[in-house]
Amino acid sequence: MPTDSPLRRPRWRSLLLLAALLTPLLWPLQQLAERYYSSELSEQNRQTLDLYVANLLGSLRRYEVLPPILGDLPALRGVLTHPQNLDAQVRANQLLEEVRGQTGADSIYLMDAAGTTLAASNWRQPDSFVGRNFAFRPYYREAVTGHLGRFFGLGTTSGKRGYYFAAAVKEGDTVIGALVVKVDLDTTETLWGKTPEQLLVTDSNGVVILTSRAEWRFRATRALSEQERLEIAANKPYPTLEPQLLKLRENAWIVQSRSLAETGWTVSILAPAEQVARPVQTAVAVGGATLLVLILLLGLMMQRRRHYLERIAIDARARRELEIRVLDRTRDLETLNTRLKNEVLEREHAQQELLRAQDELVQAGKLSALGTMSASISHELNQPLAAIRSYAENATVLLDHQRTDDARGNLKLIGELTGRMSSIIAHLRAFARRDRHAPESVALQPALDDALALLAKRRRAMDVELIRDLPDATLWVQAGETRLRQVLGNVLANALDALVEKAPPRRIWLSAVTDEQGVQLSIRDNGPGFSVDALKRAREPFFTTKTSAQGLGLGLAICETLMRALGGELQLANHPEGGAVLTLHLRAAAPGVNHHSSEDLSA
Ligand code: ADP
Repeated sequence: MPTDSPLRRPRWRSLLLLAALLTPLLWPLQQLAERYYSSELSEQNRQTLDLYVANLLGSLRRYEVLPPILGDLPALRGVLTHPQNLDAQVRANQLLEEVRGQTGADSIYLMDAAGTTLAASNWRQPDSFVGRNFAFRPYYREAVTGHLGRFFGLGTTSGKRGYYFAAAVKEGDTVIGALVVKVDLDTTETLWGKTPEQLLVTDSNGVVILTSRAEWRFRATRALSEQERLEIAANKPYPTLEPQLLKLRENAWIVQSRSLAETGWTVSILAPAEQVARPVQTAVAVGGATLLVLILLLGLMMQRRRHYLERIAIDARARRELEIRVLDRTRDLETLNTRLKNEVLEREHAQQELLRAQDELVQAGKLSALGTMSASISHELNQPLAAIRSYAENATVLLDHQRTDDARGNLKLIGELTGRMSSIIAHLRAFARRDRHAPESVALQPALDDALALLAKRRRAMDVELIRDLPDATLWVQAGETRLRQVLGNVLANALDALVEKAPPRRIWLSAVTDEQGVQLSIRDNGPGFSVDALKRAREPFFTTKTSAQGLGLGLAICETLMRALGGELQLANHPEGGAVLTLHLRAAAPGVNHHSSEDLSA
């Protein structure tokens, strides 16, 4: 295909352009996916966070109520009122130990108004609190003011993280001591499983106190104020006095937080940003792939359409070419047609010319025949004239001798002879006339007799025997009386001419047969027959083998023309036994009314 390469390049270029135009569509897709997966993740994390917060608060609240209740127990108050009583001390220790065992608290201890521990649940252990003073602890300070003391910090002896609840034990309005419950927080941290999400509990200073990641523990999530530093230095809640700043990678985490008003803590859950990024990437990739597939499909469709259009164009071109070829051919044919028409016209013209020439020729032939026959004609006329004269003279003599009957016989003979003469003259006139009569029914035998009559004298002089083989019944043929006699006269004259040189016996045979094609009249002589050349050319005008005095070469030409005009044919041949045979093929006709046609009457 010649148009392939120039078209292909722009097409792929436009597809690339389309792809470039459609690519920004992926951005809203990314936004949507991000929003969707973020909200999904945050919903999930919110639930986790809620669960954890509930758990944490639940474990704290369980112990929150313990200090005021325990502070009212007489066994413990007894120790405060009688610190020197060892029994009371032992009882208090046992009680605290027992309660601790029942509640699951880390430790429970009782301090006097000065902050010295009088009884503790861990009184049996080597690091027992008994005898130790915790007046410096903030929870103690708060409790003695009459509030519920709360504090997060490390155990001074155990170093373990704990949350302290402290309540004042009062005698009337006087604070006589404080009861402290320490809750172990390590367990709440272990509740957190090994999930990709991370837990973070920060205290009011923004320092991480509980976390699922050990390296984040006791790190500050924000810069500390001077006041906070002083407090940290005073209360020592962390293993370090200078908590290092926790630096989290920007955008690496998706954070959700909840603050706990009663403790001042903030619980946060950190989900790796990848958790959103990965499905978003997948969605965008799927979107991109879909887009690519769409563009490829579009390309494919465009290509198919282009092929379709090309095929249509090729078809149209082929049709146009065909139409042009058809037009060319039509034009050629029209030219040819015009030429043919012209040729037909020319031929018609030529034919007319020919007909005219033939007509002239016939006329000329007639005149020539008239000339050549004039001698015998004059002889034919002289003979009856002489006879008439002698009959007339005889009749005069007979009348003189009163022999009227004989004279009448002579006059009758004179009448017959003049009739014959007028017939000869009529023949001559008819011969010279230009006739265009349509063929009519003509009796063949009388016409033949007439023609023979004209040549009778010459035949007799040449001693030519006439052998007739003609049916008795009149043969009716389609012809013109004069034309037929003219043809017969010519053919018979030629036969006599041929016999001139011939030694006797000289013969002429006349025969006729009838068949479905018509009537065939044969005129045969026993002369020398046609020479090879004459057989071929005898019908041509002016072809003659005779001397100029004898022949003009028009006889057979005229005969041929006349025969054709009559719808018949003239055949020339040589007889196997020698001599010429001329056959006239004539059309059969219905029997006519008289033996003399209108041609003769009009003449
Ligand atoms: P013309 O008699 O004046 O020569 P025609 O046309 O009648 O002209 O005859 C043409 C020629 O045909 C004659 O010259 C002669 O050679 C030949 N021909 C015609 N009739 C006969 C015949 N019966 N026998 C032999 N030759 C003939």
